[in-house]
Amino acid sequence: MNKVYLRRKINPRVVNGHPWIFNNEVEKVDGDAQGGDIVEVLTHDKKFVGRGYINPKSQILVRLLTRNRTEEINERFFANQIAKCWEYRKKLGYTENCRLVFGEADSLPQLIIDKFNDYFVIQTLALGIDVWKPAIVKALNEIFSPKGIYERNDVPVRELEGLPQQKGFLSAPFDTKITIVENGLKFYVDIENGQKTGYFLDQQDNRRAIQHIVKGADVLGAFTYTGTFEIHAACYGAKSVLGLDISANAVLQANSNAALNGVQDICRFETANAFDVLKQWGKDGRQYDVVMLDPPAFTKSRETIQKAITGYKEINLRAMKLVKPGGFLVTSSCTSLVNTELFLQTIDMAAKDARRTIRQVTFQTQAGDHPVIRGMDNTQYLKFLIIQVQ
Ligand code: SAH
Repeated sequence: MNKVYLRRKINPRVVNGHPWIFNNEVEKVDGDAQGGDIVEVLTHDKKFVGRGYINPKSQILVRLLTRNRTEEINERFFANQIAKCWEYRKKLGYTENCRLVFGEADSLPQLIIDKFNDYFVIQTLALGIDVWKPAIVKALNEIFSPKGIYERNDVPVRELEGLPQQKGFLSAPFDTKITIVENGLKFYVDIENGQKTGYFLDQQDNRRAIQHIVKGADVLGAFTYTGTFEIHAACYGAKSVLGLDISANAVLQANSNAALNGVQDICRFETANAFDVLKQWGKDGRQYDVVMLDPPAFTKSRETIQKAITGYKEINLRAMKLVKPGGFLVTSSCTSLVNTELFLQTIDMAAKDARRTIRQVTFQTQAGDHPVIRGMDNTQYLKFLIIQVQ
């Protein structure tokens, strides 16, 4: 097997558990390793570190799959690992819909599998995991006997790995517009054309967190996508709910989700740019009991963190101005590069500029089927905050 030797003096990150090995941490590679091959990683003095896959074209040269010397990387490895992922989700009670595999956090770097009841959506975001797709599909068939498996590899990050954008069936074709049940409510999921894998499972616990504050409330939600938070609000007893999204297609889906749950009379959705509309409505003096925000990631690169902060500050400031004194702001950030501290500081700055005082009610992160690897920067990527605005 090809061997990769680490430099003598490198950051203890890898030895402490981080699964990535960067180009500049490697002293030499023995053998003729091709992109996607399994390699053995050793310290400079030949101590076994682990086995992983290599891509000489990527800045992240190796991603480790195991640190167990006796574990070979083969079809069985993937079947065992996916079975372990399923045991973990069952233990935590995430059975019907869940992120079955969350990449690095499940020792299957760059592999995402979302389970929507009997349907599975897969993303293989690096070459070294992409080559194992047949083994992964076989494992899913063995463990779950699914009704359908779909590939959503239309993800730009694959280009860094020399991989094409593609999507399609990895099982017999099926109707890709499915219905799931979350917190007792129903939602259509468009597996083929929805955003990412079709549905944001990471907020499933956070959607329940609004249950009490929305009772009898006039609620405004922005960045609603298919309207999940807003429909929860309506079903939890809100008086009126208005949801906004810039995507007309998302608004269409959100309105059909409202009808699916029988709340179309109190919950409606409109197409709008939240940045413009919230600013205008602030000037018009509109007021809501609860305002909810769940914007997309504002940046994926360190160079533009400041731009992301400015975006968060702006949108949260606008939202706070629309909250009646004593009402609530429900606000999220999924930008992994903006850590919790930075996000909370940004909210404080927004409150200061809006001349409002705030009390923290709830702070949560992503659901437990997206576990956080301690020591791996930013795997706690979701920040979910409820504050009372005076
Ligand atoms: N709350 C949703 C997820 C939101 S994803 C859920 O729980 O499922 C972010 C959404 O913000 C996307 O649907 C995207 O279309 C929308 N969006 C992006 N920029 C926007 C803008 N400027 N104004 C309104 N919506 C925007």
